[in-house]
Amino acid sequence: MWAGFEYFKPATLKEACLLLAKYKSEATVFAGGTDLLVSMRTGGTKPRYLIDIKAIPELSRIKYENEQLTIGAAVTINALAQSDVIGKKFDIITEATKVFASVQIRNRATIGGNLCRASPSSDMVPPLLVLDAMLTAISDKGERDIPIKDFFIGPERTSLEQGEMLKEIRVPTPPQNMGATFLKVRRTGVDLAVVNVAVAVELSENKFKDVKISLGAVAPTPMRALKAEALLKGEACTDENIERAAEMASSETSPITDVRSTAEYRREVSRVLVKRALKNAIQKVGGR
Ligand SMILES: Cc1cc2nc3c(=O)[nH]c(=O)nc-3n(C[C@H](O)[C@H](O)[C@H](O)COP(=O)(O)OP(=O)(O)OC[C@H]3O[C@@H](n4cnc5c(N)ncnc54)[C@H](O)[C@@H]3O)c2cc1C
Repeated sequence: MWAGFEYFKPATLKEACLLLAKYKSEATVFAGGTDLLVSMRTGGTKPRYLIDIKAIPELSRIKYENEQLTIGAAVTINALAQSDVIGKKFDIITEATKVFASVQIRNRATIGGNLCRASPSSDMVPPLLVLDAMLTAISDKGERDIPIKDFFIGPERTSLEQGEMLKEIRVPTPPQNMGATFLKVRRTGVDLAVVNVAVAVELSENKFKDVKISLGAVAPTPMRALKAEALLKGEACTDENIERAAEMASSETSPITDVRSTAEYRREVSRVLVKRALKNAIQKVGGR
């Protein structure tokens, strides 16, 4: 296990930002450590200055004000799972927490760590993509908003700049007639996704007023299936349209073969999950 680091536990955002500015590329933010410690143990990461953000109060808060949910970057997956307001108004987030790793990992892992790790298979990302979340980065120079669709620039790469860290995630309340759902296929009870899918549909008179489809583990970054979304917008909620959109979504993926799955299987699972998720989401808002 790599041990050649200095450890800091700032109590304020300002202190954390000053440390990030001081140590620049040698600074590493440390949240739950469920990715970072594994990587330090295997020699993949050798941080020089570890900045533990868990003692900063603002980062561990879940707030719901003015129809907007704000989640601090250091909120754990278990805290999300147990939040009443998230369960009532953003249940797609709750659904994702339930199939995320094990209870032990969920007690440590944070939402900010999940986003900043930028794994193509991160479970918290597709729900936030279909909910149009806005991320706030902070540094000693101030704050900056980044729409979630612009945050992921490659496998394990984000648009955060040197000296910046993720402060919070803001999610607008979905419209009343929107149904959203998250589905995941994994090899065992505790595993990363072979494929994960989030879908949000807004209906008007049994037609798709708006549709958002996001998939993980099938491209270099979590992705939106924009062509499949366009196929459905304005169209009737029929089995035929849903099948066509699911096929289109699958054709938009660019999966790889790895230890978890072949690329072919990922493409097929993408089709099946998008179809199921669309039907689930439609049922949630009382569509046929
Ligand atoms: C057994 C096991 C099972 C797992 N199962 C799943 C699963 O089912 N689904 C899933 O999505 N993931 C899974 N993971 C991966 C991991 O638990 C998640 O990615 C987790 O959310 C990471 O959060 P963390 O707080 O532990 O991050 P850390 O390990 O502390 O950090 C991860 C990365 O993000 C950076 N970082 C953290 N917070 C910030 C911030 N606020 N600003 C800037 N950079 C930051 C760190 O520097 C580091 O590079 C699993 C891991 C293990 C070990």
